[in-house]
Amino acid sequence: MSSVNTAIQLITREQAENGAARGSTCSPALAKGPWDYDLAEALAGIPAYGPGASSADVAPAATPRQGQLPEEYKRATDAELARRITAAKATLGDRAVILGHFYQRDEVIQYADFVGDSFQLANAALTKPEAEAIIFCGVHFMAETADILSTPEQAVILPNLAAGCSMADMADADSVAECWEQLEEIFGTEPDADGRVPVIPVTYMNSSAALKAFCGEHGGIVCTSSNAKTVLEWAFERGQRVLFFPDQHLGRNTAKALGVPLEQMPMWNPRKDLGGNAEQQLLDSRVILWHGFCSVHKRFSVAQIEQARAEHPGVQVIVHPECPMEVVDAADSAGSTDFIKKAIAAATEPITFAIGTEINMVNRLAAEYPQHTIFCLDPVICPCSTMYRIHPGYLAWVLEELVAGRVVNRITVADAVQANARTALERMLAARP
Ligand code: SF4
Repeated sequence: MSSVNTAIQLITREQAENGAARGSTCSPALAKGPWDYDLAEALAGIPAYGPGASSADVAPAATPRQGQLPEEYKRATDAELARRITAAKATLGDRAVILGHFYQRDEVIQYADFVGDSFQLANAALTKPEAEAIIFCGVHFMAETADILSTPEQAVILPNLAAGCSMADMADADSVAECWEQLEEIFGTEPDADGRVPVIPVTYMNSSAALKAFCGEHGGIVCTSSNAKTVLEWAFERGQRVLFFPDQHLGRNTAKALGVPLEQMPMWNPRKDLGGNAEQQLLDSRVILWHGFCSVHKRFSVAQIEQARAEHPGVQVIVHPECPMEVVDAADSAGSTDFIKKAIAAATEPITFAIGTEINMVNRLAAEYPQHTIFCLDPVICPCSTMYRIHPGYLAWVLEELVAGRVVNRITVADAVQANARTALERMLAARP
């Protein structure tokens, strides 16, 4: 099976030559080098997420931007970049470890020492204390988590600084602090007769280090899509309600599975007073959901599931819990990337799977398990915009800079933020089902 990038190149070429193509992509601009968007954004002075699933999302002004990549890396052929990356990696040896997220493009994943989800990768880096550099081929919040968990001597490098996460950017520290103040005015700060505080903040791993620190400082906790249920139970033992950010869908799907009625899950819109809620709604709430979402997983729909079932009788539909509730309800099962991988690995007979998560991971699973038929629920090729900003050209650049003794694109989390963020992460690790 060809890579997502190869498929996009082919579709774009066919469209240009014949006006039609086999397959479709949400943006022909994905066929270009990410440095084109870096340059366009620099010239316009407006940060954006670039083509792909998050292209319509508004990037905050403070979103990190990537400076220009030296011309030699933009002009290099795929073969030349492959030769240079391999040579630099060999020269660096154990001094560098390359981490690749499940959603990263194949052209980069082929060089990864570890492939996994964000938390698995941060932990994988811990097994390489001798590595002076951790090159995180994922997005910004993942590199921050790796910096928090690594030693101060280790430099965490994000090959393209514009590889942020539109969902993580939907909750910023100032808006969450403002929300917290308003909630304290309504709920007060005193625990109830059972010792439960009015509200516990819970942040998804897909959030900035500042928000993890906020949770650490305010008796809260971090969750992943694998342990969200356990973490919510932990929070309900200690609090009357939860403020869950940034992903409304993971929060809603998890709380619903725990029996929390939808009426007790108001949404907090940071642009509105009281988040757009009446005071009584908040007083009656069990989970206050932040108005955030992942634009990759928002693309999946019940109509796509119905189409998959009509075209592939017996298909097993598995979706990620960042998908909207109707999609999770209509699927056969829902779970984290790890859950999806394990479900496919556990199937002993050939099965047709329709998967609702990022296309790079789905295509890789299809190649890894040829005995099954595995396809992405979304028929349009539309990768995560920000993961896609990491091109082999950027990887070659950061590696060759390391060989030359220079660290570029280092991600550093301030000490005070690190300490509180670590507290929230440690609470998550200690929370048991
Ligand atoms: S897939 Fe969604 S949550 Fe993950 S990095 Fe991309 S935008 Fe963020």
